Amino acid sequence: MIDYIDQERHSFETLRRHIYRVAGTLGLLVVLYAQYTLLVDAATPYIVRAIYVLNHILLAGFTVVILWQLARQRAPIDRLEKRMLFFFIFQSLAFNSIIPALFNPAPARVLAETYGDDIWFLLATCTLAIHFYASRRGVALALGVYALSFAIVGAQIVEWQSYGLDDGSGAKIIQIYTLAGMFLAFMFILASHRSRLTRIHTEYELLAIIAFTDGLTGLPNRRQLYRDLQRLIAEAERHGHPFCVCLFDVDHFKRINDQYGHTVGDQVLCAIGQMVRANLRLIDYFGRWGGEEFCVLLPHTSLKQALSALERVRVALKGIGDFPTSISASFGVAAYRPGDSSETLLHRADKAMYAAKRAGRDRLQSDAREEADANHVVEVPQ
Ligand code: GH3
Ligand code: MG
Ligand code: MG
Repeated sequence: MIDYIDQERHSFETLRRHIYRVAGTLGLLVVLYAQYTLLVDAATPYIVRAIYVLNHILLAGFTVVILWQLARQRAPIDRLEKRMLFFFIFQSLAFNSIIPALFNPAPARVLAETYGDDIWFLLATCTLAIHFYASRRGVALALGVYALSFAIVGAQIVEWQSYGLDDGSGAKIIQIYTLAGMFLAFMFILASHRSRLTRIHTEYELLAIIAFTDGLTGLPNRRQLYRDLQRLIAEAERHGHPFCVCLFDVDHFKRINDQYGHTVGDQVLCAIGQMVRANLRLIDYFGRWGGEEFCVLLPHTSLKQALSALERVRVALKGIGDFPTSISASFGVAAYRPGDSSETLLHRADKAMYAAKRAGRDRLQSDAREEADANHVVEVPQ
């Protein structure tokens, strides 16, 4: 289970690294192209072009550093993501809000810049903040950046109005920022609902795994087997398919623990689990009943077929050769009879298993044999 989660995490990290590598390379090309258009553009004032150049140098420099860190694979990806986020926040505030405001641009120009790229960059940055951080911090960060940008542009609009410079651009800018704010709120609600749903789903799945799996062997546990058995009974009642239940108990397991320690005992239980699973059909249910007792459910199987399949398992168990002692088990097998409940069926399998123990262990005993033995009438010669 843990291995699986680690594997998932690793492949997700690899995917993110790959995406950032591609995005970074494309970003570098875009910056180079923007720099080229700036070089051939003589109409833009010198000071504005100088600011753009500074912006491009920062962007390109930062991208190269990130690409280099991605290639070295040293820094954890989460840290790189947070570095990228803070750079974008700085970039958005500095080059889209603070520096332009200092140059006192005309309202129409601010409006054009707002819907041209500023608002998109701000939205992207705030969305990343919500995405990269655990909910509260992400919202606080996104809200802070958004509020600061809005405050700067709002202050400009107030200034235009006080000087009678506003040509109607101010109202449009406020409208754009308000819509963007609504969109951000929507994104946040969506993100928090999604993460809550995912958490509930994951918790449920984990709980189901923990509740129905044996912690030591990884096999289904008694609770799961009980459910499977009840389903098989319902199916047999409806369709009349034969099926069998087998309980088996490892012989003299206490001796293994006593002689070689509990760790070896645990390893033996795991090895038994693997060996038995490998020797059963895929459609058979197999799990740990408790302690050193296991249970097999054999659907669509007559008693005769079950006995021959389980004889194969018994022999396979004796072939487990990784331990300093030989391993054997005693098997009790019961075939479903109409009217059986899980309790009656398990009771017969359990009785048969104890009969196998009494008869000398390392053998199979069926409830049919038990019955036959009990009803066996010794003929007394006249
Ligand atoms: P028998 O042939 O009559 O079944 O003898 P036995 O020694 O197997 O039976 P007994 O019930 O006396 O002992 C079972 C032992 O299994 C006792 C218990 O400590 C051990 N056991 C139960 N669960 C575990 C486990 O998870 N790990 C280990 N190592 N031992 C366990
Ligand atoms: Mg035992
Ligand atoms: Mg036992």
